[in-house]
Amino acid sequence: MIVVLRTDANDELARAVEHALRAAGGDPKRLDGDRIAFRVNGVLEHAARAIEGVAEVYDEPSPHPRASRPGGRSVVTVGGASFGDGSVQIVAGPCAVESPEQLETIASACASHGVRVLRGGAFKPRTSPYSFRGHGAEALAWLRAAADRHGLAVVTEVMEPAMVEAASEHADMLQIGSRNMQNFALLGAVGRANKPVLLKRGMSATLEEWLLAAEYVLEAGNPNVVLCERGVRGFDPAARNLLDVAAVPLLHARTHLPVVVDPSHGVGVRDAVTPMACAAVAAGADGVMVEVHPDPGSARSDGFQALTLPMLDALVKKVRAVERAMRE
Ligand code: PEP
Ligand code: MN
Repeated sequence: MIVVLRTDANDELARAVEHALRAAGGDPKRLDGDRIAFRVNGVLEHAARAIEGVAEVYDEPSPHPRASRPGGRSVVTVGGASFGDGSVQIVAGPCAVESPEQLETIASACASHGVRVLRGGAFKPRTSPYSFRGHGAEALAWLRAAADRHGLAVVTEVMEPAMVEAASEHADMLQIGSRNMQNFALLGAVGRANKPVLLKRGMSATLEEWLLAAEYVLEAGNPNVVLCERGVRGFDPAARNLLDVAAVPLLHARTHLPVVVDPSHGVGVRDAVTPMACAAVAAGADGVMVEVHPDPGSARSDGFQALTLPMLDALVKKVRAVERAMRE
């Protein structure tokens, strides 16, 4: 059994937990890693959970040994952005790439606010076949050009294995959308690609299913996976989804992979995006991803949840303030 301590645990608390595990009949051995953790036999799970300072307890062997790695934290580097190094990365851009002009305006605003990764869909998964499904390969080149002009990295969605090569030529990170979290052929294909992967949570996926999806990518040979919480189906149409901010600390106790939060799809209400981005950072997220549009009213997809450019400015200031507060 693996016993992981709270993120704020110090050596003194570690000694107290070790002592309590021994007193409960166990043989704790401390594991290497950024997070304090013990491997222990002979203690009941509920007894270990009850010890002050313990954040997570789970059995070995893990069903997802590559995603689990108790105690560790991985850093995934995408251009100038490091996910998981203790900083908060902001990923921003349009839902769909609409034109070179649209991207230029957004990329320029992103760069001026210190955003390091530009998002944008070239191939869009749409619920209706009659909705705008993206400009395709042409949009990949527009993304690359706009990002290069402003020193940004690019993340874009791939929907099938055949798209992975073309997307890899232009993008710095490949996004697997919610609808494809369990598209195992696609997970294998990005696992064999030489680019970091942004793996969004399936809209009805448990954390366990999500980590097993990550395991497919890791097992195929790609160690650079960032998890992206984007809400799960709720019962209340007041929000597009139910954003699971608790997933952040729960995942940090279970996996070494960085975790970012997408409050745009997570709530689907423009005015709720900045408050929930702040909540995500307060919960310990390694980054946030938001949709922005210079004129949301004319957006060809998800305009209702897009931040305007002045709203992006406000979001960045608030997120940075929460980030600083969390360091104190
Ligand atoms: C997106 O981020 O462009 C997107 C389609 O989101 P999701 O897969 O989370 O619905
Ligand atoms: Mn969208």
